[in-house]
Amino acid sequence: MKGSKKIILTWISIIIFLILLFTVYNQMERKEQTEEKATASTELHPIVEEKKNALLDAAADSNIELVITEEMRTIDSQNELYEQGRSTGGNIVTYAKGGQSYHNYGLAFDYALIDKHGEIIWDIHYDGNGNGKSDWFEVADLAKELGFEWGGDWNSKDYPHLQMTFGRSIEQLQEGLLPDENGN
Ligand SMILES: [Zn+2]
Repeated sequence: MKGSKKIILTWISIIIFLILLFTVYNQMERKEQTEEKATASTELHPIVEEKKNALLDAAADSNIELVITEEMRTIDSQNELYEQGRSTGGNIVTYAKGGQSYHNYGLAFDYALIDKHGEIIWDIHYDGNGNGKSDWFEVADLAKELGFEWGGDWNSKDYPHLQMTFGRSIEQLQEGLLPDENGN
């Protein structure tokens, strides 16, 4: 009888030890995940970055001088931009407050063109490569082929804007449901 009691006590100790080990491991993993979340929105999502570079290459192949004007926007700078044309001077450029734009989560960037004089332009009719098609729309088509959503297709037009949502709504992103590095 005494021997079997010892065995039972040994087993209970082992089980308690394993539960403790599991709990500690779980907490460490959770901490890692929240740290990832905190860093996830300081730069473009790796897939968006990769596709952005593919778009730059494709535009160059079509003799279009493409420039990326804006990538990440912090929540503070988004709020500042929102005030432009409202409480501060200038034209209204965004309808999104801080946290309401895909720019705030590294899932969007804006583009423009460079003309023959090396000037940055936002002329959607400009045909710099002389193929009879607007360069701006050519870039939009190339981007859509790469899987981007284009702001020029929206009811409230945002011609420079390209984004990849990975099926996330702004509400989900605000709750911290960011896509992982594979876009899942
Ligand atoms: Zn944009």
